[in-house]
Amino acid sequence: MKTENTVWHMHQVSKHDRASLKQQKPCLLWYTGLSGSGKSTIANAVDELLFKQGKHTYLLDGDNVRHGLNGDLGFSDAERVENIRRIGEVSKLFVDAGLIVSTAFISPFRADREMVRKMLEEGEFIEVFIDAPLDVCESRDPKGLYKKARAGEIKDFTGITSDYEAPLQADIHIKTDEMSVIESAEKVVQYLDESCK
Ligand code: ADP
Repeated sequence: MKTENTVWHMHQVSKHDRASLKQQKPCLLWYTGLSGSGKSTIANAVDELLFKQGKHTYLLDGDNVRHGLNGDLGFSDAERVENIRRIGEVSKLFVDAGLIVSTAFISPFRADREMVRKMLEEGEFIEVFIDAPLDVCESRDPKGLYKKARAGEIKDFTGITSDYEAPLQADIHIKTDEMSVIESAEKVVQYLDESCK
């Protein structure tokens, strides 16, 4: 910790106040899964459904964060941990602002996802496992990354040359080889409706 002499200011307007004004329960929907499993697609579909319900949301997606906030980070084990830690901290601030936040990152390691769960309050972190077999993800290959990984052009590629640790008890489990995008998005929204009752 390099911040021994800084003091945390208590805000006059609390998280609860901000959430009440927005008439919603802030939370973090943490999408995890292999590249091409459908994290971005489903997170965007959920975001759209929530927006139409009048909810205040924000979506943090893999590539835009890698270009900006985490532009200095590569894909070594240490840099992957730091990538997730920063995303977790930023998400926590957005949750504090009263928003329903979604993040779409492979986040292959259980320990890193648990690190983020611990940053948030009980019940705020919702792990959404976007599950599809590797061969299905590889046949979709929306960004051509599997092709490059198989050709040896990308090292440490999750599912090929780097592990993916599937959640043991995800809060929401979606198999995108069995469900459509809209069915999947509705399942997430239904979970939120039920957990907010
Ligand atoms: P990720 O964010 O996990 O890397 P993307 O959402 O970028 O994955 O890409 C998933 C691809 O799979 C998209 O081209 C999407 O249209 C396609 N796809 C086909 N069926 C589904 C489904 N049921 N759910 C999500 N994506 C699907």
